[in-house]
Amino acid sequence: MRLDKLLEQEKIGSRRKVKALIRSKQVTVDGQIIMSESLNVDAALQDIFVGDKKIQQTTHVYYMLNKPNGVVTAVKDAQHQTVIDLISVNDQRVGLYPVGRLDRDTEGLLLLTDNGQLGYQLLLPHKKVSKRYEVIVNEPLTLLDCKAFSEGIVFLDGKKCKPAELVILSSEKNQSRAYLDITEGKFHQVKKMFLAVGKKVMYLKRLSMGPIQLDPTLSLGAYRPLNQAELQALL
Ligand code: URA
Repeated sequence: MRLDKLLEQEKIGSRRKVKALIRSKQVTVDGQIIMSESLNVDAALQDIFVGDKKIQQTTHVYYMLNKPNGVVTAVKDAQHQTVIDLISVNDQRVGLYPVGRLDRDTEGLLLLTDNGQLGYQLLLPHKKVSKRYEVIVNEPLTLLDCKAFSEGIVFLDGKKCKPAELVILSSEKNQSRAYLDITEGKFHQVKKMFLAVGKKVMYLKRLSMGPIQLDPTLSLGAYRPLNQAELQALL
């Protein structure tokens, strides 16, 4: 993050005051006096002082990303573009990571934060954070499927899922659309749930996670910080 932005964010003063402090040689980074307010710094890795006050980063970032197909939910990957690669360098932070995981071919809502505690809380199984997916499968969907989901799907390998709500939006011979609400996060959960009732998922998109809904104005690959209302609902 830019030095002036960090100091303003950590309440050292207005952008103008921060600039004046820098120009009057009161700001050091790793022992060096810094005269450029636009220097990119990282308070988690560098010793930043204003006079004798050490600057620690106390605020966190929270982004929602509309993840596109083809991008992996990881911080680093040798082969593929990662969700972190979609975040501009200026918005990246040490410890920024995705909360939970979407498959490479899944689209939609992914939260990213450098607040490890929040991610941990959202992923705890007993918190039963609800997630809504839009799903397209290759077969007709029927009320029998809704019943099977509401009673708890059993994967082909015998693992049992918690009850989930399936809402059929359209049902045709080769293609059906539905919303699915689940409260768990098993590996490939949605795809395996549909496989258990003999259907193949052809398209999958996450629309919400807990109180956060995917902003419909975000194009694929775009992200934005969570707004005040979303943060209040989440924290
Ligand atoms: N379930 C899946 O099968 N894939 C995802 O990406 C998310 C949920």
